[in-house]
Amino acid sequence: MEDVLSIIIPACNEGSVISKTAGYIQAIMTEADIRYEIVFVDDGSSDDTWQQVETLAEDDTRIIGVKFSKNFGKESAILAGLEHASGSACALMDCDLQHPPKVLIEMYSVWKEGDVDVVEGMKTSRGREAFIYKHFSNLFYYLIERMGGIKLKAASDFQLLDRRVVDIIVSLPERQRFFRALSSWVGFSRKQVFFCVEQRDSGASKFNFYKSAKYALSNITSFSSAPLQLVTVIGILFFVISILLGIHTFVSWAQGNSIEGFTTVILLLLIIGAMLMLSLGILGYFIGKIYEEIKCRPPYLVQKTLNRKAAS
Ligand code: UDP
Ligand code: MG
Repeated sequence: MEDVLSIIIPACNEGSVISKTAGYIQAIMTEADIRYEIVFVDDGSSDDTWQQVETLAEDDTRIIGVKFSKNFGKESAILAGLEHASGSACALMDCDLQHPPKVLIEMYSVWKEGDVDVVEGMKTSRGREAFIYKHFSNLFYYLIERMGGIKLKAASDFQLLDRRVVDIIVSLPERQRFFRALSSWVGFSRKQVFFCVEQRDSGASKFNFYKSAKYALSNITSFSSAPLQLVTVIGILFFVISILLGIHTFVSWAQGNSIEGFTTVILLLLIIGAMLMLSLGILGYFIGKIYEEIKCRPPYLVQKTLNRKAAS
């Protein structure tokens, strides 16, 4: 049987580009003679994204639609796409044409030719980004690399996965996912293809500063417990400082000097207070994460599907 490539596209308020994206992919796939299906996951859009998917799906049964009951975030949309895809390989891409569809052909042939399970799209340039966004994302990748040991700076969600990797990722029990890190964590044989991040075709990025910061924080903590160790490091640091200060105080007392330093006391109190609060905050964040995880709520809810029965 011929292989089918499932192309998974999370879409949140992408009404302005969705038919263009689908059109491009259809043209490219037909030209390269690849059997495909496109899985659009409408992540709680408030514009006409779903109507567009409906129109597309009417004419073509290879267009599959999954509509969430509300916005569950890109990570959930990726998971839903993987769960609803049936191809022997699944490729993920953004809806805004920032991931050039042409690269899909290259990914497909790399997968087809070799014994490759994951074809990673690596960014050679990151496209135009706001100054502050660029620096914060660099910090984020640096932290992830240091804490989780996973290199993500050039990695993207633009990837092609073999069916066996898809099945593994989908069956993982965790709810709060970070796809890029998970796909790196599974291992298997991997190859990289390179692409330039294009300009967003139309519409605006769905990630504002607040959403990006939340996304970064949530991803760091769902992949690494290093921030907890940071608390220990701060503790050790302050212990060392307190010993040094203790010795200093003792020596000056032994020399007959009076113990002074009201300002030092106040400063120390403030610093230690702040550090304690920070540590509690980090602890609290992780406990919150555990709480979310043990509530066992589903990562997304499907309101409607097109051309495919809801995955059970
Ligand atoms: N997206 C989504 N849910 C969200 C935010 C984004 O499904 O809550 C999708 C969006 O429709 C797009 C992809 O994720 O297909 C990447 O989003 P965007 O282009 O806004 O992010 P950026 O490229 O600016 O990082
Ligand atoms: Mg984009």
